[in-house]
Amino acid sequence: AEASEQEVLKLWEGLGYYSRARNLHRAAKAVAERYKGKIPGILEDFRKLPGVGDYIAAAVLSIARNIPIPAVDGNVMRVYTRFRGIGDDIRKNTTRNLVYKELEHIIPIGAAGEFNQALMELGAAVCTPKNPKCSSCPLNKTCTAYTTKTIEHYPYKSPLRNVLEYKVSIGIVIKGSEFYIQKRPSEGHLGGLWEFPGGKSKEGEMPEETLLRECKEELGTDIEIIKKLTVVRHAYSHFKIVMSVFMCRLRGEEVRPPGGLAFHWITIDELENYPFPGANHKIFPALKEFLK
Ligand code: SF4
Repeated sequence: AEASEQEVLKLWEGLGYYSRARNLHRAAKAVAERYKGKIPGILEDFRKLPGVGDYIAAAVLSIARNIPIPAVDGNVMRVYTRFRGIGDDIRKNTTRNLVYKELEHIIPIGAAGEFNQALMELGAAVCTPKNPKCSSCPLNKTCTAYTTKTIEHYPYKSPLRNVLEYKVSIGIVIKGSEFYIQKRPSEGHLGGLWEFPGGKSKEGEMPEETLLRECKEELGTDIEIIKKLTVVRHAYSHFKIVMSVFMCRLRGEEVRPPGGLAFHWITIDELENYPFPGANHKIFPALKEFLK
């Protein structure tokens, strides 16, 4: 709770899902401020902490306090849809709700934590996605999928649409031995991390055109391209990017980022002090080579 957001993001750097780090930090602050440092054990209060959804609330409160709430994650969905022979699409909330409701009826009072952990563990160690170890499974006598030899039908997951791929241009703007970095707004994708200026290409735009347009918007001044440094590919959970990276310099004027965007001019040795997204880390070796 006493750490700065930047310290937390730096420690989390490279793990992805940065909103989890920010929420964990906010939750720690909320516990310190609202509950005198003691994590609330009542569902309504615990559920209000930043980043706490149904699954986290159920897992923590059942294990720590034995409160009888089913913790339904991907492993549990797999075990239970096989066990009961539920062929509905597990991407749908209605299927999850159905599983939740059934588990709510059978979760034992007084052993909720053990029950949830047993299901999680069964999914992780026995009822695995491929080649489940049914012959040694404690549920095999009553498991629908096993007794009807239909394991391959469960769980049913509808196919995903094609993963989007975006073209992105990034500029490393140098001034003497320093280069420019900016801080992303706290909210949203990769919020609070530092990055190089740039952005997504519009339809039909060349990477260089994208970079000049984006840098003009973000730096509030014109840049010129010195050379193309590298091309980096990176996959996020729901989309991919192909990132063209250019070495650049200012065309005379100082930077004036709109809206008070935080920025620093740093040297290559100071790079380690700032949390960057994983995609930016892939640029660092080429950048270090260029600045040698
Ligand atoms: Fe999963 Fe097989 Fe056990 Fe059924 S018997 S719950 S399919 S491991």
